[in-house]
Amino acid sequence: MPLDSDLIREARRLPRGSPVFLDYDGTLVPLSTDPETTFPDDEVISVMDQLAGKYQLYVATGRSIPEITKFLDSRYNFIALHGAILKPRGGQPEYVTDAGEYIRKCDTVYARRDDFFRRYPGLKMTNKQGGVVFIMWGLDEKAMSSLVNEASLLALQTGMELYRGKRIVELRIPGVNKGITIKKVRNGAPALIAGDDATDEDSFLDNPDAITVKVGPGDTAARFRVRDVAEFRELLKAMSEP
Ligand SMILES: [Mg+2]
Repeated sequence: MPLDSDLIREARRLPRGSPVFLDYDGTLVPLSTDPETTFPDDEVISVMDQLAGKYQLYVATGRSIPEITKFLDSRYNFIALHGAILKPRGGQPEYVTDAGEYIRKCDTVYARRDDFFRRYPGLKMTNKQGGVVFIMWGLDEKAMSSLVNEASLLALQTGMELYRGKRIVELRIPGVNKGITIKKVRNGAPALIAGDDATDEDSFLDNPDAITVKVGPGDTAARFRVRDVAEFRELLKAMSEP
């Protein structure tokens, strides 16, 4: 299936200097069973640099700033931790909401990690300073559903939001999401927003006037869809042409 020609046309009409918000995992790079080694390839970096010369490029991710800057250096703008953190190109990261209480709650949950690892062999956990992620690639279905139940209970106890992603479950700061932060950042400007996961649906729903692109299969509120990461790259290349 060729890339949607309406999408190419609209994307190429996006005025120079407009903000472009791109999710990282599953959008700029393929999903990996080991989220710690999802390094970008040379091709994506080259496309991103071309885009950054033409638009205000934001990488909008659920990852923390230390995690995402392991893969991408500070020449890009970042929206991190599902919208809780904004870090402009070359600048310092700032929480967009009061997160202190939730950072402490995450520390408390993460301090129990050895107990989780003992009961769920193969589990990995990350403390994102405003989110705790349980990475379940190593778990079978039964263990996974039991862990999701436990995480739901923890969400109730801590007042945090539970998010269920592809093979992950996460406790998140309540009341923030990518969509709210993107809306604030673009401030009515025309924009392109792309993502592959449930968290990106908030971005699509909160910014219905933008060019919204779902990467991959599944229900979506986005106006356009591309088949996969490779096809999305074709769009980015078309946009980066002068
Ligand atoms: Mg993603």
